[in-house]
Amino acid sequence: MTLLPTIKQLLSMEAVGQSVTVRGWVRTKRETKQAVFLEVNDGSCLSNIQCVLDSFLRQNQSTNESILRLSTGASVEIIGELVPSPAKGQRVEVKCQQLKLIGEAPPERYPLQKKAHSLEFLREIAHLRVRTNTFAAVARVRNRMAFAIHQFFQERGFYYIHTPIITTSDAEGAGAMFQVTSLDLEALSKSGTPIDYEKDFFGKKAFLTVSGQLNVETYCQALSRVYTFGPTFRAENSNTTRHLAEFWMIEPEMAFAHLDDNIALATEFIQYLVAIALQDCAEDIAFFDQRIQPGLRESLERIVKTSFTRMSYTEAIRELEDSNAVFEFKPYWGCDLQSEHEKFLTEKVAGGPVVVTDYPKEIKAFYMKQNEDGKTVAAMDVLVPRFGEIIGGSEREWRLDLLEKRMEELGLAKEPYQWYLDLRRYGSTPHSGFGLGFERLLLYITGMTNIRDVIPFPRAPRQADF
Ligand code: ATP
Ligand code: MN
Repeated sequence: MTLLPTIKQLLSMEAVGQSVTVRGWVRTKRETKQAVFLEVNDGSCLSNIQCVLDSFLRQNQSTNESILRLSTGASVEIIGELVPSPAKGQRVEVKCQQLKLIGEAPPERYPLQKKAHSLEFLREIAHLRVRTNTFAAVARVRNRMAFAIHQFFQERGFYYIHTPIITTSDAEGAGAMFQVTSLDLEALSKSGTPIDYEKDFFGKKAFLTVSGQLNVETYCQALSRVYTFGPTFRAENSNTTRHLAEFWMIEPEMAFAHLDDNIALATEFIQYLVAIALQDCAEDIAFFDQRIQPGLRESLERIVKTSFTRMSYTEAIRELEDSNAVFEFKPYWGCDLQSEHEKFLTEKVAGGPVVVTDYPKEIKAFYMKQNEDGKTVAAMDVLVPRFGEIIGGSEREWRLDLLEKRMEELGLAKEPYQWYLDLRRYGSTPHSGFGLGFERLLLYITGMTNIRDVIPFPRAPRQADF
């Protein structure tokens, strides 16, 4: 099968009157005495292709009927000649010879008419919102970034590992978990029988994973450089614009690597992705810059060129304490950095991304490498303006005795983690990694402000339709 050129491809062709076929959805129909002008979009790019129907075509009765029934949202097939466009703003257009109306979109019912709709309204019609410029642009950037993530790691000798979605370890500490069961809870509840997880599918309680890290560490200890890129689930009941219940995470893990190597990788990674977005999604980024987040392109260009500010958690707290800013949560050494603190550090202190290192061990996961001071761990979060944390990572505790001691302090049962501890028992290496939330990256690159608008079908509290 040979695929017809997309509108994106047609728009970049030299127009010499060649015969072309356009298939897509009508964005607008404009009629004058001499002609009908259709703007047609097929999602291959932001731009529409203009198709011009000379009015003599209307002498054909069925063509005329099609034109009358055509409206915004209808799908069409147009055969015509690709010619240079006399109009401003486009190089080429299609001189229509044949028009076929394929699927109507009656204007009295089709919800996406020309007027701009609010993002809130569009969230209610997630199955149609991708037909708008904004959501189609997000989808294209999302696609390009997903591919670029693989490119980045593959070019650097990292292997892509598929870690499981279902897990039975419930104490990774990264967030509340969704339980997975094949028990008939309704029947059990009706009969008043207490739940016996021995009878559940896995013979014990199981959950959807909150992170692939622990599993990917096992592959790291054999393949040296690995990454996961898959869905993760957190039953966070926080209804914020930065949290989803189902989101995608990229988690690289490197053997023989320390915190500095980790920071270098994270920085290079973000800069690489932003550079590709600027280059390969230029039209969509220009759209976001104009319509969603003024100044976006310039700030992205700056990211690629400037190194990220680095400061320790202790320094960050001092900056916050010494500032005159009023925070809802008063910062103090030992507190978890709130989004407002992260925004302050990036927007007011650094004027760009900040890498914060060496957090108090109490607010970080058990597996992070303990520093000499006995108080902090070799953690690193990358924070960005507008919403704060985009990456969370660390050097891992690779010394068996210290890891076991930390687990004891935290009251973690060691039995379920024997496999994880084995990695420290046999051929242990210093190793490091991080997690980048894919949707947070997309918020950053598109300038969109609500995370529910950068994933096709958002899952959030009380939101799982479509
Ligand atoms: P936050 O403090 O912002 O809730 P976290 O510290 O819980 O994030 P980590 O456990 O470090 O996050 O996860 C790694 C990355 O995953 C984060 O830096 C963020 O980009 C992303 N992330 C975490 N939770 C969510 C979520 N609920 N929805 C979307 N992305 C998330
Ligand atoms: Mn974090």
